[in-house]
Amino acid sequence: MKYIGAHVSTSGGVENAPVNAHKIGAKAFALFTKNQRQWFSKPLTNENISDFKRNCEKYGYTPDKILPHDSYLINLGHPEKEGLEKSRNAFLDEMKRCEQLGLDRLNFHPGSHLRQISEEKCLLTIAESVNWALDQTKGVTAVLENTAGQGSNLGYTFEQIRFIIDHVEDKNRVGVCIDTCHAFTSGYDLRTKETYDSTFQKFAEIIGFEYLKGIHLNDSKKVLGSRVDRHDQIGEGFIGKDTFILIMNDQRMDEIPMILETPDDELWKEEIEMLYGMVSNGI
Ligand SMILES: [Zn+2]
Ligand SMILES: [Zn+2]
Repeated sequence: MKYIGAHVSTSGGVENAPVNAHKIGAKAFALFTKNQRQWFSKPLTNENISDFKRNCEKYGYTPDKILPHDSYLINLGHPEKEGLEKSRNAFLDEMKRCEQLGLDRLNFHPGSHLRQISEEKCLLTIAESVNWALDQTKGVTAVLENTAGQGSNLGYTFEQIRFIIDHVEDKNRVGVCIDTCHAFTSGYDLRTKETYDSTFQKFAEIIGFEYLKGIHLNDSKKVLGSRVDRHDQIGEGFIGKDTFILIMNDQRMDEIPMILETPDDELWKEEIEMLYGMVSNGI
């Protein structure tokens, strides 16, 4: 069964995320557990936590269908000591917030070398950061998202993601989220049955579906291999609807949160319905 949702607002408190997800007919959702553009946020209160859990239960969202996303400021592969420490502490805080909310995974963009260190050094730093955070938390899996490869962001090839996983000590608490827009603009074609199959065959061989903990469903405003990250509504970009029909009928993507991050949140309800309509054997 497919669990489709969107990255919903937490305006007014994290406890509003499951309510907002329910309103658009989502069976899964993503959220920020703190302000994604600031380094510091107030700690979650006991009331936030209990209301969040109560609302998730009320609307039927279990932790394995919820994919929290970390702050955009965090760079776990930061080349400088100060920037790295700040990022690690912020990431640990986010992992702990997930723990408090009873969530079992945290999605993040691996990191950027900022053209100051080699790709390999940056990937090793990311793995060390993950090890450091996993050592201090329990029950939350660090979920690496593939990137478009914009600027000096790493994680734009399956090999880079595999390299990080190889250097993470606790393989049971590391996972991967594939963003369809990022995959496409980083150079993985998905537009035909043939290219889709070959891309996911590579994924299976290099990373492995056992690590797949979520999908970001986005079309792309930019062309194949452009290495630019600009999401588009489903079916309106350069990827096109056919890819999403293939995804909706791919059983390897069952039972994980599939999250829309398309630009117009007014269209999410319709997009969720459209995606469920693509499932050929019912849901
Ligand atoms: Zn994404
Ligand atoms: Zn993106």
